[in-house]
Amino acid sequence: MRLLFHVEQMLQKYDVIVVGGGHAGNEAAAAAANMGCSTLLVTMNMNTIGQMSCNPAIGGIAKGQIVKEIDAMGGYTGIIADKSAIQYKLLNRSKGPAMWSPRSQNDRLRFAEEWRLTLEGIQGLDFWQDMVVGLVVENGKVVGVRTGMGVVIKGTAVILNSGTFLNGLIHLGLKNFGGGRAGDPASTGITKELMDLGFISGRMKTGTPPRVDGRTLDYSKMTVQPGDSKPGKFSYSELSKNLTKQLPCYMTYTNSEVHEVLKSGFDRSPMFNGSIQSVGPRYCPSIEDKLNRFSERDRHQIYVEPEGWNTVEIYVNGFSTSLPEEVQYEGLKLISGFENVKMFRPGYAIEYDYFPPTQLKHTLETKLVENLYFAGQINGTTGYEEAACQGLMAGINAALKCANKEPLILSRDEAYVGVLIDDLITKGTEEPYRMFTSRAEYRILLRQDNADIRLTPLSYNLGLASKDRMDAVENKLSMTKDLITYFKKTSVAPAEINPLLEEKKSAALTQKVKLYSLIKRPHVTLQELASCSGGLSEKLADYGDNVGSIVEQAEVQMKYSGYINKQGEQVEKMHRLEEVKIPIEIDYDKFSALSAESKEKLNQIKPSTLGQASRISGIKPSDVSVLMVYLGR
Ligand code: FAD
Repeated sequence: MRLLFHVEQMLQKYDVIVVGGGHAGNEAAAAAANMGCSTLLVTMNMNTIGQMSCNPAIGGIAKGQIVKEIDAMGGYTGIIADKSAIQYKLLNRSKGPAMWSPRSQNDRLRFAEEWRLTLEGIQGLDFWQDMVVGLVVENGKVVGVRTGMGVVIKGTAVILNSGTFLNGLIHLGLKNFGGGRAGDPASTGITKELMDLGFISGRMKTGTPPRVDGRTLDYSKMTVQPGDSKPGKFSYSELSKNLTKQLPCYMTYTNSEVHEVLKSGFDRSPMFNGSIQSVGPRYCPSIEDKLNRFSERDRHQIYVEPEGWNTVEIYVNGFSTSLPEEVQYEGLKLISGFENVKMFRPGYAIEYDYFPPTQLKHTLETKLVENLYFAGQINGTTGYEEAACQGLMAGINAALKCANKEPLILSRDEAYVGVLIDDLITKGTEEPYRMFTSRAEYRILLRQDNADIRLTPLSYNLGLASKDRMDAVENKLSMTKDLITYFKKTSVAPAEINPLLEEKKSAALTQKVKLYSLIKRPHVTLQELASCSGGLSEKLADYGDNVGSIVEQAEVQMKYSGYINKQGEQVEKMHRLEEVKIPIEIDYDKFSALSAESKEKLNQIKPSTLGQASRISGIKPSDVSVLMVYLGR
């Protein structure tokens, strides 16, 4: 009793209590503390802060853009990914710039260590190792949390980031046992309390592949997958550096013998014997799923990914499975290069509770309980990046609310983060939600090269992004403008440029033309023009160390100006609908012109603008017209 008294005195009332030190919770805690809130991070095990539960990699298609956005806002996932990277690649380089997606392979242990050290370096952020088992709610407002040790901690706002831990159930063949991920206990108590408060919960599933001993693999039978020859990085800041050395990954394939062995275990697969009922990530299927869904294929790709600089552990990407461990092992041994493999840890599947995200506002605050926020996998998403950006936004909005300030809501044309949150709260999700470029209707505006231009000014005004970051953006903008002006003013002579055009099989010049018209030709790059034009190459030298990002930015803006301007016009149209606010207290049952389905959906989501109403699945243009008339438009 005396001990609890002292602990509670030490853990005095906080502005923001963040529950869970995963990818969402870490960004939430960092943002709230950096915005001046007294913040407490309560997590079950401080040794697993920032742990990568599944693949040792950050970014990838659309996810890389999200990491860039987090970085531009002053979040840490990008910097930590850079500091712990063992390999870097810009994916989709052969496609248009809207598709360019950075991805790093990471040292798993170093990633978690960097998170821990980063958080420890933030002023105003306290830590408490404990399991939160309940919330303290008074008069519809959360006012604290209760922990497994029996401590009650008071807070103005609480952000729940419980990942895959809520009532987590791990499956391995016919065995199943409680756990939040392998080696960690499940989190119990919270789901029931939230349901008693009126929340609806659901169940989802995910899985992970086995990890093996790299010393037992024969890499000569595999195809090497190196990183980029000139590796980039996620962070726009100087806080991380580009890699100077990298580790390669390797690629191999399953084959029909592997498939036969795996299929022989299907009768003991929790996926097929009814043990797992919930829905898994469609775009990250297990090997069992792949054999079932694509039975015509006689092989599937396997990426052999090192887990870090100094460890021999290997992540077998593409072989996610919950088959019995002996079946996994027998299957692995038949993969080319894996003949002598030793397994460190078998793959497994996990089922966990989530809360359908239509129960949230755009700020990620719950509609039912004031000052309670949900972020990350608890909202039905999958992936570190999706979780981290929600944590960042929940942290920012909880801090703004504590300071009685207007919330920060990113629109669909400002950020992938805006698309993700709007999709979640407007459409909900019945299967683990991951980001894709195709989910963003304005993706030519939401590029990885311009996230700093889009978002750093917003974040700087909140006091989150530093002055250095803001200065860097202003510098980038003015240098880019300077280079574009140079292209518009400067002409080149045929003799200077025709050899390059001939090499590119592009029409030769007969008279001088402006550089601006040449850069619009497909396959002609800015750097190639600089190699022909002495004036341009001198101009680029003026930009010093910034030359890479200025060339990238100016080139994209000039080459794709037609598409960019067109999307800008579409955004303006969308904003007109977005500007029409809908009062929250509207009772849609009173609209006789709406169908029963439309009334039900509008009453459930309670859209805040006409734009949001138009994106609810099942809401028709005629319903939007009815609302427009009602709102006097
Ligand atoms: P997590 O990273 O899970 O962090 C949750 C944190 O909260 C943990 O630190 C935990 O200890 C703490 N915590 C939980 N409950 C409490 C409590 N009550 N009190 C105190 N602390 C608490 N993602 C993919 O994109 N693709 C995949 O294929 C994939 N496979 C996965 C396979 C497995 C087996 C697992 C476990 C996860 C997988 N993921 C995958 C998901 C990925 O790990 C998550 O998307 C991401 O980690 C979610 O971040 P988060 O912050 O929401 O939760």
